[in-house]
Amino acid sequence: MKSLWNQEESLEYKGEIALRVYTSRLLGRDPSLVLHGGGNTSVKVSETNILGEQEDILYVKGSGWDLISIEAEGFSPVRMSHLLELAKLPRLSDLQMVNELRTHMTKASAPTPSVEAILHAIIPYKYVDHTHADAIVTITNTEGGLDRIKEIYGNRVIIIPYVMPGFDLARLCAERFAAEATDKTVGMVLLNHGIFSFADTAITSYENMIDLVNEAEAYLIQNNAWNINRTEVDTNLSTGNRGDIARLRAEASEYFSKPLILSCHTDTNSLDFIRRKNIEKISQQGPATPDHVIRTKRLPLLGRDIYTYAEDYKTYFSEQTANKTEKMTILDQVPRLILDSELGMCTLGQTIKDADIVADIYSHTIDIILRAEMLGGYKALPANDIFDVEYWELEQAKLKRAGNPPAYAGEVALVTGAASGIGKACVTSLLKHGAAVIALDINTDIETMFDSPAYLGIGCDITDIDKLNESLDKGVARFGGLDMLILNAGMFPGGKRIESLDDDEWHKVMKINLDINLTLLRECHPLLKLAPNGGRVVFIGSKNVPAPGPGAAAYSTSKAALNQLARVAALEWGQDNIRINTLHPDAVFDTGIWTEEVLQSRAKHYGLTVQEYKTKNILKTEICSSDVAELACAMCGPLFSKTTGAQVPIDGGNDRVI
Ligand code: ZN
Repeated sequence: MKSLWNQEESLEYKGEIALRVYTSRLLGRDPSLVLHGGGNTSVKVSETNILGEQEDILYVKGSGWDLISIEAEGFSPVRMSHLLELAKLPRLSDLQMVNELRTHMTKASAPTPSVEAILHAIIPYKYVDHTHADAIVTITNTEGGLDRIKEIYGNRVIIIPYVMPGFDLARLCAERFAAEATDKTVGMVLLNHGIFSFADTAITSYENMIDLVNEAEAYLIQNNAWNINRTEVDTNLSTGNRGDIARLRAEASEYFSKPLILSCHTDTNSLDFIRRKNIEKISQQGPATPDHVIRTKRLPLLGRDIYTYAEDYKTYFSEQTANKTEKMTILDQVPRLILDSELGMCTLGQTIKDADIVADIYSHTIDIILRAEMLGGYKALPANDIFDVEYWELEQAKLKRAGNPPAYAGEVALVTGAASGIGKACVTSLLKHGAAVIALDINTDIETMFDSPAYLGIGCDITDIDKLNESLDKGVARFGGLDMLILNAGMFPGGKRIESLDDDEWHKVMKINLDINLTLLRECHPLLKLAPNGGRVVFIGSKNVPAPGPGAAAYSTSKAALNQLARVAALEWGQDNIRINTLHPDAVFDTGIWTEEVLQSRAKHYGLTVQEYKTKNILKTEICSSDVAELACAMCGPLFSKTTGAQVPIDGGNDRVI
């Protein structure tokens, strides 16, 4: 581990709080120090208040901010004098503590201060840094961890036995600090939790952290507990797994009562870990640091038996609450991590972001466990300590702060022909409404078209069934299944009358506009059947189905046949709770083929201005790709939940269609 302090970069951060922002971000940049909201930092500043009085203020990380991206407004200013008085109280409940913190801030709009605020206040140094460094939790989660920490640091750190974060921990740290701190003290190790460093300057406090963690890493290296021997594994998913993944996700979603994303990780590190002989023992100990529990739950599921996991979870809950006086409500009983020797490390969440956070945390946990094993054996905190953090309302509040999930949270859509026009607009709409999207297009630009973890763009010629299956495998491995299918890919060849239409062109149009949709429907059917809220298919039809025009025989015929395919699918798949609806757009001009030049020439042909040409319909309105996409999205939603086999025009009203 290296210090990331850069003198030149640091000069851009002027003032005590700005430097606090800078070194907090440096800590956040190293995932082996902090992950996803873990860790916290503070600075003590003297300020003049509105009455002209000097006050000492603790700026401490606010809840809901990540160190890696924190800004000055992510720090909550709390009056030091009050915090120091609070630290002397014999006891303070969580709710009282949060109330005291919030009512003694000097800025009403600041976020709720970290639950470790009082702890930061009692450390008599200007800058305080706190992380859950991997190396520290590796060593402290072993038998004899306490002695090892003593051996590494001697009297340079104060060692605090495990106590749940909050007031009791702050009080204990205050007592120990008062009794044990000397001018040699540079840090404080919290067993099974993490580490604090401090100093009067931002750089020294930060570099103390790096030095202390480096010493822990060096200790692991000296004790042959650093380099992990891994067995290389074949990381190629076999195609048969697609159905298994979707079934597992369907079952988990059923227990969760809402659709979940399930993401499979079949990298060497994950599979090597899962296939170890002692996996049963090493994976069933608990998390490396307690606050991971709200993301990962206490234990991963080994294998695929979600029913037994849920039953075991209920037992854990009733055992842990047996002697508690307050009434508690059980959380959902669905694992967030499934370790399966074939499917790999599967992480679950209401969004892919949540599932990816679980994956990040557990990838680090794997290394922590394996290194602790080399050091003599991984030994996490007992279940009751983890339970207390899992059911601590202040931790649960962190998750609730995220707000209500969007309409399609936990659901997966596949869009064909997604690189332009209506297809691309469908991707935008689906992402906006919270769906994870698998976007297919022959244009490989699709792969980088959207920057979102909920987006998987795959360049693929879907007329090649092997490539299509490969794409479906990739999509299902990433998101866990398929709920919505938007059949959009199609072609519109230049106008030709029947007498000059050759067979090749006819067959090509039929293949792209019709045949591949049959293939897609067939291959996706087993997945759609498993969709937690029922499968939905939207066909992008055409005005030409109800109202064909001359010169487009191949196109109109292919779309008419596709329309009939949709109607038959609606008849056949209703019993599988799959809804199929079609929309018939017309005159959508904001797509690639309609350049300004083409528009002008077409408008001229009819003796109209471009604007008149674009709004040549009953409502005199312009139809955009995004309008069509929103309708396609709505057809997948609750508004259309009792509709299947419908055909809805989106054309501003066309007298021939009506
Ligand atoms: Zn902590």
